[in-house]
Amino acid sequence: MAAGAAAKNVIVIGCGIAGTAAAFRLRQAGHDVKLLERENYPGGRMSSYEKSGENVRYRIDRGASWLSHNYRPMIKLLEDAGLDSRMLPCSSELGVLRDGRVHRLSFVRTSDLLRTGLFGWKSKLKAVNLLRDLGSARRSLRWHDMSGAAGIDVESARDYALRRLDRPLLDYLVEPLCSTQFLAPADEVAAVGAFSIMWGTFGAASFTFDGGVGRLPTLLLGLPLMRSERTRVELSARVTDVRPDGDGVQVTWERDGTRHIEHAHACVVAVPGPVAAGIVPSLTDDQRTYLTGLRYTSDVHVTFGLRKPPRETALGVAVPRREHPDLCVALFEHNLGPGRAPAGRGLVSLVFRHHWSAERGALDDARVIEDALTAVGEALPDLAVHIAEHRDMAAVQRWDRAVLARPAGGYRDLARFTAGLDPRSPIQLAGDYFSYSTTNASLATGEQAAQRIVTALRPAS
Ligand SMILES: Cc1cc2nc3c(=O)[nH]c(=O)nc-3n(C[C@H](O)[C@H](O)[C@H](O)COP(=O)(O)OP(=O)(O)OC[C@H]3O[C@@H](n4cnc5c(N)ncnc54)[C@H](O)[C@@H]3O)c2cc1C
Repeated sequence: MAAGAAAKNVIVIGCGIAGTAAAFRLRQAGHDVKLLERENYPGGRMSSYEKSGENVRYRIDRGASWLSHNYRPMIKLLEDAGLDSRMLPCSSELGVLRDGRVHRLSFVRTSDLLRTGLFGWKSKLKAVNLLRDLGSARRSLRWHDMSGAAGIDVESARDYALRRLDRPLLDYLVEPLCSTQFLAPADEVAAVGAFSIMWGTFGAASFTFDGGVGRLPTLLLGLPLMRSERTRVELSARVTDVRPDGDGVQVTWERDGTRHIEHAHACVVAVPGPVAAGIVPSLTDDQRTYLTGLRYTSDVHVTFGLRKPPRETALGVAVPRREHPDLCVALFEHNLGPGRAPAGRGLVSLVFRHHWSAERGALDDARVIEDALTAVGEALPDLAVHIAEHRDMAAVQRWDRAVLARPAGGYRDLARFTAGLDPRSPIQLAGDYFSYSTTNASLATGEQAAQRIVTALRPAS
């Protein structure tokens, strides 16, 4: 902390990666931090848990499971925290299913697009347009705030692909990328979203942590800086109200029916947009309308522990909509790094397009598992047979708000929303809704919110 500046109390609401990163940067700047988290575990959509199979335990990522060396803010934070030695390499290949055959593309070698048997030569010539357009689009993409892309947000990913590429590139590249990232097909999301995925994915290797990506928030919370008495973490603490109070903020939260009221100099609200709209009454009507109207897709996915891993080297096999309407990717989680499946075992997740999940949100686990097995039997019959023969455990994960799927025009709406936010307010917002739903974007928004608070709390010279 700079001479003359006094430590201030800052509350961070939400202990996902946005809130955890904000807390870390605030502690680094010398402030005292209290984190309030609704669940009884930290990490939010970047968390992992253990589940037993027959005499063994698997570690399952609840939400995010894949990280990229393109995630520059995350890597910088890991370096600053002295945690970069915990990063481990993992598979950087994604398979794409076409006519019963899996074509593997490397994220690292973008030139695979020109070599793969997935497309004919006419499509490969058109792929040059894609690489050129991506080169221009990336100039307006920022991890912490995608509102700079408003100027190029003119069409859906599908319309872009039909205008500048061709049908095979739409069906076997753009659509599966959109479905895998947004759980929504290319006609439902903006072309900017498709560029964002390629920007975040192409040209760099993947990395992971031992035992799942949920290690990152817990590693951060375990740092000496974060375990000092100047950092408090309250789990099972549901915040109900955040409002300006004099020069600072007042935060109301509940646990087991008991209400707590806290005062602090500032606050980072790092919860999904619609939740922020419900707990921050000082937002304007337009801001609240924007946040409640954000379109998050839902996710119900099934993870199988397997006594033997399937013979697949890729981290996943994307299933284009032309190949199957519901299943969008089979993730081979044991290829995503150590500590997930015990040695010699496999861990496979089946992830579906959002309409399939929405129809199954209220069904019991047994029915969801049965439907997932039917879908994989139709799309990837060899994998279905393998699961049937070697199944050890099955787990169902459900998210009402999994990832943000912005339609065309959504980035222009975002730009109007961010233009109205006050960078000096003691209440700062963070979360993936400023960007596209990735752990890295959320982390970057948390850091930015922390930085705005550090600046606002600095004494005037
Ligand atoms: C199924 C799935 C797969 C994904 N795959 C990937 C991937 O492979 N790679 C990738 O980079 N990203 C992936 N993502 C996206 C990524 O996980 C998210 O964008 C990111 O983790 C969101 O972080 P966040 O901190 O903004 O929000 P969250 O993780 O949602 O954190 C918000 C926190 O606030 C808490 N909270 C909510 N309301 C309150 C309240 N009233 N009071 C107190 N606390 C509250 C929540 O419990 C939560 O812990 C995936 C997401 C899902 C769901």
